[in-house]
Amino acid sequence: MNEQRWTDPDEQKSDGDLDLSLRPRNLADFVGQEKIKDNLRVFIQAARQRGEVLDHVLLHGPPGLGKTTLAQILAVEMGLEIRLTSGPAFTNSAELIALLSEQTDRRAIFIDEIHRLGRVIEEHLYPAMEDWRVELIIDKGPNARHFNLQLEPFTLIGATTRAGLITPALRSRFGIVAHLDFYPPEELAIIVTRSAGILGIGITEGGALEIARRSRGTPRAANRLLRRVRDYAQVDGHDLIDQANANAGLTRLGVDVLGLEPLDRRYLQLIITHFGGGPVGIQNMSVSLGEEADTLEDVVEPFLIQSGLLKRTPRGREVTVHAWTHLGLELPSDGNSIPVSGATPGQGELL
Ligand code: ADP
Repeated sequence: MNEQRWTDPDEQKSDGDLDLSLRPRNLADFVGQEKIKDNLRVFIQAARQRGEVLDHVLLHGPPGLGKTTLAQILAVEMGLEIRLTSGPAFTNSAELIALLSEQTDRRAIFIDEIHRLGRVIEEHLYPAMEDWRVELIIDKGPNARHFNLQLEPFTLIGATTRAGLITPALRSRFGIVAHLDFYPPEELAIIVTRSAGILGIGITEGGALEIARRSRGTPRAANRLLRRVRDYAQVDGHDLIDQANANAGLTRLGVDVLGLEPLDRRYLQLIITHFGGGPVGIQNMSVSLGEEADTLEDVVEPFLIQSGLLKRTPRGREVTVHAWTHLGLELPSDGNSIPVSGATPGQGELL
């Protein structure tokens, strides 16, 4: 990415230890996503009562919403060891087979960005997930010999920001599929307050809510903004973050009242000034902004759609009336044709 995004969920992965210390370790500390938690509690209890491993779980939703955290919590609650890896980490089938065939009893395997597993590699997962076996092929052509290797039972937890890119064959092998949604400000405020407590930062309710409201519905962004706001407050000589100094810090970071950052605003502005409000294709946007299409689709667009500023149609991206007004731009005289809201029936999971 070209510019620093304070609320960029991926960027914070580099915060390493600090991020780890803020990660909730059990379902009780995992704020929000109540429906998912309720269901998972039942599935965990049922699997434990039967003495079985938990069925395979697919978690999907935008980055920074807690997929990795939830996977780790699931492992803890099931009493499983967890191996963390990601789709792009596998360059060939042998690496996946080596991981699957480790003789470790009672474990979960977490594959982040599972949609980025190569197709040939992915096919080895199917029999592994269904029957605990992988097929080994030794030699080529007429000499090829097939062996079935029996595996220890495991729970596969897959995470993806793009459920739409998961093949139906893989998706159908997950017994539990959960979509994580953006968090409302009240829940993010609980997360901010909890993190402030762990980091030893004094914060008022108003300060926590101000950060929460401007964190794009994303816990990782909320934690990151909390740290930066603390830096400003500290340097300005405040030992408590209240609404006023939270607001001042966030404004200095370029995060506006809706939580939009410079890239988000440039994105909306470009559609309006160069493409008459849209529709415009993602490749066009990617070239014009000099940003990867994946970044736009994963990080920028979901929140703009959720906020009702952007609409995805079969013909491309269109801004809504709300985007014009938020940017303080004057609507064109034929503005009646501009969508009023980003939410369209059936738009569903923002894939
Ligand atoms: P993802 O895997 O979806 O990108 P993570 O699980 O890495 O997201 O979450 C990012 C950070 O946000 C975590 O380290 C944790 O501190 C925080 N976080 C995420 N979800 C929650 C939650 N529901 N409650 C409290 N903190 C959360």
